Amino acid sequence: MENIDKFAQMVKESKNIVFFGGAGVSTESGLKDYRSEDGIYNTVKEFGVPPEVILSHDFMFNNQDTFYRFYTDYFLKVSANPNDAHKILAKMEEMGKLNAVITQNIDGLHQAGGSKNVLELHGTINEYFCVNCGKAFTKKEVAQMDSKPHICDKCGGFVRPKVTMYGEMLDSNVEYNAVKAIQNADMLIVGGTSLAVYPAAGYLNYFNGKYIVLINKQQTDFDHKADIVFHESIGKVLNEMINHLNIQ
Ligand SMILES: [Zn+2]
Repeated sequence: MENIDKFAQMVKESKNIVFFGGAGVSTESGLKDYRSEDGIYNTVKEFGVPPEVILSHDFMFNNQDTFYRFYTDYFLKVSANPNDAHKILAKMEEMGKLNAVITQNIDGLHQAGGSKNVLELHGTINEYFCVNCGKAFTKKEVAQMDSKPHICDKCGGFVRPKVTMYGEMLDSNVEYNAVKAIQNADMLIVGGTSLAVYPAAGYLNYFNGKYIVLINKQQTDFDHKADIVFHESIGKVLNEMINHLNIQ
C-alpha cells in the first residue's frame, strides 16, 4: 500500500497521538449504520420516520413507545466484536504512542478492544439512567426490565440511554477533554468519518501538531488538510502500518 512506510515513520516519531473516529470504524465490525442510506430507508419503512427524528430529544419524550422499539433494535440487541482497528488502537495506547481515542460512535467497541482513554462524544449505548431521579442502569439491567418502555424501579421515571440525542448538548466534560487532547497531540489520525457530523470538523482546527493522517473509504472535504490520505478500510490500513512499524 502506497505511503504505508511514511505513515509508520510518522507514528514512530510521534509520542502523543490522538485518534478521532466515526461510523466507519464500527461498520467494519458488522454494525449497522442507521445514518447510511440503507439505515435511513429501513428506519422510515419500519418506524415511519428517519433515525435523526427518532433520536431527537423531543421525539424521545413524546413518542416513548416508538423510541423504545427503535433503541431495542439498534442499541440493546447490538452484539458486535472489536475489529482490527479497535485492537490496533488499543495496542498503540499500550505502546505509549496513543494518548486518546475520540469517537463519535456509541457502541463501546473501543473499550471492548482494550482502549483505556476513550472519549465518547455522543455518549454510549451501554449506560442508561432515569430522567427523573438519575438512577443509573447498565445495558443488561435495562434489557431485563419488564416495563416497555423502561420505567425506573425507584421512582417510576422514564429510563433513557446515555446517548446524546439530536437537539441535546454534548457532555461538556467530554468535549473539554477531547479538545485538550487534540491541542496537546503531536499527531492526529482521523478514521472512518466524513467529518460531516457536528462537531467533528471544528475539532480539527484545534490541532497544532505535526502530522495528520486521514483514513476514510470516501473522499472528504478535509483530504487537503492531511499529510497522508488513505481511501481504504481503516482496519486494513492500521494493520499494515503496525506491521511496518514492528519490522522497522
Ligand atoms: Zn427514577
